[in-house]
Amino acid sequence: MQLDPIAAISTAQGQGGIGVIRVSGEGSISIVDKVFRSVSGKTLAETSGYTARFGKIYDQSEELDEAVVLVFRAPHSYTGEDVVEISCHGGLYITKRVLRTVLAAGAQPAGPGEFTKRAFLNGKIDLIKAESVMKIIEATGKSAARAAVAVNNGAVSRKIAEATEDLIDLSARLAVWADYPDDADFDADFNSIKEILSRAKARLDLLLKNYDAGKVLINGVNTAIVGAPNVGKSTLMNMLVGSERSIVTEIPGTTRDIVEESVALGDITLRICDTAGIHATKDPVEAIGVDRAKDKLMSADLVIFVLDGSRSLTDGEVDLLNSIKENKNVLAVVNKSDLNQVLDCDAIKKFVKDVVKISAKTGAGAEELEKSVLKILEVAQVDPSEGILVSERQYFTVKTALKSVKEALSALESGLTLDAVTVSINSAIDELLVLTGEKATQVVVDELFSKFCVGK
Ligand code: GDP
Repeated sequence: MQLDPIAAISTAQGQGGIGVIRVSGEGSISIVDKVFRSVSGKTLAETSGYTARFGKIYDQSEELDEAVVLVFRAPHSYTGEDVVEISCHGGLYITKRVLRTVLAAGAQPAGPGEFTKRAFLNGKIDLIKAESVMKIIEATGKSAARAAVAVNNGAVSRKIAEATEDLIDLSARLAVWADYPDDADFDADFNSIKEILSRAKARLDLLLKNYDAGKVLINGVNTAIVGAPNVGKSTLMNMLVGSERSIVTEIPGTTRDIVEESVALGDITLRICDTAGIHATKDPVEAIGVDRAKDKLMSADLVIFVLDGSRSLTDGEVDLLNSIKENKNVLAVVNKSDLNQVLDCDAIKKFVKDVVKISAKTGAGAEELEKSVLKILEVAQVDPSEGILVSERQYFTVKTALKSVKEALSALESGLTLDAVTVSINSAIDELLVLTGEKATQVVVDELFSKFCVGK
């Protein structure tokens, strides 16, 4: 299916040496023919798919730029439509000028994610893969990229397809069984139905189980560095970031606001904020910082609680440790290991998930810190190439499908009629088809693509 032609700049705006303007849809080849003259004299209409031509782009008689133009013919393109990609010089002015010229020649401006939406509508990719395209764009860090590539290669789609096929097969068998009960061998059927349902359950379970760790790999971890003034929070932040982002001084209360920074730690990205030291203060400006630090503490995925190993715990620190022990991911970092150690580490173990000794000043203990963070976040056990759910939509749809599979299993085991089993199996199938997009409503599809950037 070819829709009306659309065009957009597909590369980062104004960055890089080359800019790509993509045109897709019915008539896109003749539209670009109006603005492009190849050095060979051949038109794009005479050009077969997967072929590039070199030439110049013109706005009427004004020469805009040299360009390499790539022709893709439907259905062999990203969108499944005729596609022309114009590679001209990068830079905001040139790419925008070329785009404007293409629009003047008859294309409409593409909406957010419209190219990918067309790829979905033409059956080029399923909804799971479409979402992953977005994640590939956003991916930072090695694991995020690996996970996105895995989704793009269809790891999740394949797992979902296998589960769906099994369930559809089962549903069909149950329908036959209902029509011809005399031909059925109930015991044999019971076992094989149970086996297939258990297999689907295990597949969906695994995808859900890896979701949190996957989210960590893809999105990074909201991390808060907290602790009393002067324990070395800013120094630790600087050690992790490798630059002097936070001001380190010997006067308590220097860090008055929240400083945020992304840090690569092993395979993951920590989005760290160094907060104002949490303590009672009469300074109104500092008090605002202290309140913000407390908020951050409650919403963080990982709390790095910094303590000074060269002195004993204060009552304030014990209170704070008590108040955050509900947060499951608190790591106590006992800093200043280069000084004489006074702090009783055993006394803090009961409040936190792990305790690591470091010297933020010398860098000692950095490796242990990294290992401990990865262990706490449970990312070590997850292999991104196995396939990871990348969105809340995917997570909740799989969760609902799993609930139906479990209902089918318990209906089967408790001896309910096979009709009851079939109803649950069919609702699981419906959910999984929504996930891949085969049964997704227009609202779901529109909402999903609206989150893309223009040009994708
Ligand atoms: P914050 O208030 O918790 O952010 O603490 P800072 O990072 O500003 O550090 C307070 C003081 O402790 C500064 O003088 C740092 O140089 C010092 N400091 C930080 N980390 C260490 C460490 O590992 N060893 C030693 N000896 N001093 C440190």
